[in-house]
Amino acid sequence: MALDILIAGGGIGGLATALALHRDGHRVTVCEATAELKPLGVGINLLPHAVAVLDALGLMPALRSMAVPTSALIFANRHGQTIYKDVRGLAGGYSHPQFSVHRGELQLMLWREAAAQLGAERLVSGWRITGARTEGQGVIAQGLDASGATVERRADVLIAADGIHSAIRRQFHPEEGAPRWNGMMMWRGTSLAAPFLDGRTMVQAGHRRAKFVVYPIAPPRADGLQLINWICDRRLREDGLGGGLTAPGREDWNKPGAIDDLLPTFGGWRFPWLDVPGVIRGATQLLEWPMVDRDPLPRWRQGRITLLGDAAHPMYPIGSNGATQAILDAAAIAQALREEPAVEAALDRYEAERRPMCARIVELNRQEGLDYILDMVEERAPAGFSRLDEVIDPAEVDAFVKAYKAAAGHRQDGVPAPT
Ligand SMILES: Cc1cc2nc3c(=O)[nH]c(=O)nc-3n(C[C@H](O)[C@H](O)[C@H](O)COP(=O)(O)OP(=O)(O)OC[C@H]3O[C@@H](n4cnc5c(N)ncnc54)[C@H](O)[C@@H]3O)c2cc1C
Repeated sequence: MALDILIAGGGIGGLATALALHRDGHRVTVCEATAELKPLGVGINLLPHAVAVLDALGLMPALRSMAVPTSALIFANRHGQTIYKDVRGLAGGYSHPQFSVHRGELQLMLWREAAAQLGAERLVSGWRITGARTEGQGVIAQGLDASGATVERRADVLIAADGIHSAIRRQFHPEEGAPRWNGMMMWRGTSLAAPFLDGRTMVQAGHRRAKFVVYPIAPPRADGLQLINWICDRRLREDGLGGGLTAPGREDWNKPGAIDDLLPTFGGWRFPWLDVPGVIRGATQLLEWPMVDRDPLPRWRQGRITLLGDAAHPMYPIGSNGATQAILDAAAIAQALREEPAVEAALDRYEAERRPMCARIVELNRQEGLDYILDMVEERAPAGFSRLDEVIDPAEVDAFVKAYKAAAGHRQDGVPAPT
């Protein structure tokens, strides 16, 4: 049955959902609070099972032209020495590449694609949703339009994909309050630099108190330089493990950061293949973001309204899961609405498939992944090592990485996930 579906939020989750539902014949409208979309944010990673979803939507040529197919993820100490190398993409046995890409460019590509397929009039910008209620067989969404006037829209279903500060989530759970902070601050930057290693590798180096993550997010330019995304993680509070603190200030993905906050910690980090302070000093953009998430919810659906993406399951941006899980939500909700005759049953099926999985990843990310291994190496060999197996058992690291990936839904059998 073709439905009128309203999506609040034209981020990566909302737009992927719009494209998937439009493909199935639904009449979809996206309301985006921002009046004019700009390429905001820095780098983001799409895991192969999310790329499979975008491939099924016909987006592979666009992705290939703008993104970097990640060849490997390397964990290293703060001297740039490899502790573990995890081969990614087709060579790692996946059905699809993993892509590193500029978040804002990806969002703009999805917006253009949605405008072409749905019709530009179905993408309503400058329309901020403020609340919604189920009424009979439909939903009434309230919002403010670009002029600040109160407006209402009726639909058969409302999908709230309005991010970590979701207005609909707040309406459903007014007691929830601010996101939970773990004491870690992330400075996220981009720089133009000569390609490092093979030009396609993602590296996480350092230890739990200070970590440098770096990966290229665009193909090399004609002058040989490449747009590099990097993140400096610094632990500012030790008492936030598990996420019990309130972050200093409201979380804003676009808050500018300062290089001077980074050089005292990272100024001496020189890898054999990358001049870390040089990359930091060359920042073309620098943003600051606290590592926050929210506790998993017991329920996403109320009537014909449900949550999706960061509105449903905000998680630490660890393990390349933020955008990936939102895109998997898109495929799951489309499939449920395709296969279940009753709308409420379809929304429940979507939730049954996705909510436990995402709750698990939120919890896994709180356990800080491989950081304890990085810490162990730092503690035992602060000046670096000549043989890794004298510092740590490589089999233990291998088992740990595999367990995280299995829990996060990685598939390395070369078979595309259902889309
Ligand atoms: C500006 C911005 C920059 C980001 N940069 C990064 C980054 O560099 N690296 C990273 O890992 N992650 C970044 N993220 C988060 C990342 O995009 C998400 O974790 C992931 O893509 C899941 O996306 P989402 O669509 O669920 O949520 P989001 O990407 O947060 O998208 C939500 C969308 O809803 C809109 N919106 C918000 N409130 C309302 C409302 N009341 N009514 C209508 N629309 C509303 C927002 O403007 C936004 O376009 C960023 C998010 C934003 C919004």
